[in-house]
Amino acid sequence: MAFGGLPLELKGKSMNKTIVANWKMNGSRAFIEDFLSFLTPSLITSPYQIILCPPFPYLFAVSKALKNTPAHLGAQNCHIAPEGAFTGETSAFMLSDLGCKAVIIGHSERRAFFNETDELIKAKVTAAHAAGLTAIVCIGESLNVRQAGRAIETVIQQLNASLPSSSTLQNTMVAYEPIWAIGTGLTPSLEEIEEMHQALLSDLPLLYGGSVTDKNIKEILALPHVNGVLVGGASLKTDIFKKMIS
Ligand code: PEP
Repeated sequence: MAFGGLPLELKGKSMNKTIVANWKMNGSRAFIEDFLSFLTPSLITSPYQIILCPPFPYLFAVSKALKNTPAHLGAQNCHIAPEGAFTGETSAFMLSDLGCKAVIIGHSERRAFFNETDELIKAKVTAAHAAGLTAIVCIGESLNVRQAGRAIETVIQQLNASLPSSSTLQNTMVAYEPIWAIGTGLTPSLEEIEEMHQALLSDLPLLYGGSVTDKNIKEILALPHVNGVLVGGASLKTDIFKKMIS
């Protein structure tokens, strides 16, 4: 199946379950060298579709290191314009040019620390699609919203407001990431994850993110409406991440 001109295996619901590693603003050249030399054999034999998302400065190094593996390269953000006078920004076309196949958009840290709105996120997703990238669109509720019993309606609203009409199951994944579960060690129950994923039921692949570790990944990935996971902290711990992808 053609994928925006790129031979990517992200084929929607029928694909292998996906593990996305979001390194956030962590890592170094030395870390990447150690990480990849330790992990390459597992990347090759993993039954999962793996997407590694390092910080911008390390994309090229990771891209080169992934060449002989089936793992994909992803980025953590992009600008809405293809090029221009936007000092310090990186376009989706540049990411594609560097070998990225996917880009995380609308992570809750970007929504919270960089004031990203659903409207901006929608424009970034459109830019990612135009560059032939798969957009991994993050949505999720705060603890207050969950405690008020409004998690499902809030997340559905966010999803509808963040997805442009160019979204298809070939070019978009949705990551449900409750804000209160990110980096906290807290996770919703399996029933709550399944309930949210069922409520979000769409043609798009649905990932879960928030404190996924080697201890809970198996049971989360076994949920029928979960097509993969987005992993933050645990993806930086080489021995733990190796277990997770094996
Ligand atoms: C994330 O950054 O998207 C994330 C899910 O982080 P963690 O796995 O550390 O909770």
